[in-house]
Amino acid sequence: MVASKSARERKAAVEAGPLATVKIDLDAQGGFAYKISCTACTTTVAGKEKTRSQRPWSAYRPGADNGYLAAMDRWVFHLHEQHADTDATEAPCLAYLAEAQQRLHERRLEQEARGR
Ligand SMILES: [Zn+2]
Repeated sequence: MVASKSARERKAAVEAGPLATVKIDLDAQGGFAYKISCTACTTTVAGKEKTRSQRPWSAYRPGADNGYLAAMDRWVFHLHEQHADTDATEAPCLAYLAEAQQRLHERRLEQEARGR
């Protein structure tokens, strides 16, 4: 079963919580590219350089099978770091913080292994 683009957007938006705006683009291969934007970070972001602070925060990850996970992992980290008062009852994706951190750790180990 292949869910429609709008159904996937709705499902991802529920997972990501009330701060997120989820958009899905189709990439050149017809795959789903998830874009998650933060509605709270559309203005000045403290601690970021000025050129970047004008743009909304977003995680944009083109990709076929892991597009959803990769974008959602980045979103989980964003919530955890920038909106620590958000909890998993509002944003169910926060329940996967430990898994997201584990995946990030594994990706870094892979990159290190490849770099040597
Ligand atoms: Zn934010």
